[in-house]
Amino acid sequence: MTPILEVAGVRKTFGGVVANNDISIQVPPGKIVGLIGPNGSGKTTLFNSIVGYHPVDAGSIRFDGNEITQLRVPEIARLGMLRTFQQTRIYGLMTCVQNMQISARTTQGAPWQVMFNRIPPEDTERAEALLEFVGLYAKRHLRAGDLSFGQQKLLEFAMALMSEPKMLLLDEPTAGINPTLINGLMDRLQRVNADLGVTLLVIEHNMRVIMNLAEYIYCLAHGELLAFGKPDEIRNDQRVIDAYLGA
Ligand code: ADP
Repeated sequence: MTPILEVAGVRKTFGGVVANNDISIQVPPGKIVGLIGPNGSGKTTLFNSIVGYHPVDAGSIRFDGNEITQLRVPEIARLGMLRTFQQTRIYGLMTCVQNMQISARTTQGAPWQVMFNRIPPEDTERAEALLEFVGLYAKRHLRAGDLSFGQQKLLEFAMALMSEPKMLLLDEPTAGINPTLINGLMDRLQRVNADLGVTLLVIEHNMRVIMNLAEYIYCLAHGELLAFGKPDEIRNDQRVIDAYLGA
């Protein structure tokens, strides 16, 4: 099957630091793929390279039949791929619904359209449906800044879905989420994947979560690709165990 995302030989340095060295990964369409590795192993840098946040030093990136290596964030978002952040990026003074409306395809990047109520009704309907999906419907008219951190992450996830992406890159979706809510979040991620057909590439430190969610897992260490395999293979890979133990 042709991958929806194909990263080939990507290198990214910051001054003298080689954050990613010759990284190649392939994500099949419709799958959930994990990206793990100790802190500083280069996961965030790879996400940023993929979505066009910064140019790469070498290598190529293809998404959904398009060469995207030279493209930047808005162009790649228009092709249907975006990332979420470990720390949420929401407008704290605006309501949940307004935050959702800003993320709609029609108004993307134009908060003033939302402020002045130039909202197509279908955007509001979709916003409310997605807020319902993530369990925030009752809070839809509250200011986003008044939500708990976990609820803000759910809001950001729903915002990412507003633009009907083909693929989402999720940066630690369960970090900071109350453990009792994690199973519900995993269930929603699986439904987004299975019901809406959104391909997911997920950075996750919670091993229980990623081993359950992902069909395949890539592991980075020191900016290099260390291992690739099914969760059971990764779990039992001595190189992966050593990398996490700091060997
Ligand atoms: P991870 O997400 O796995 O924790 P990162 O991609 O954040 O790893 O970091 C990989 C390496 O690149 C680290 O050594 C980090 O200090 C370095 N790095 C990341 N971003 C920058 C930057 N903007 N400037 C300088 N060094 C950076």
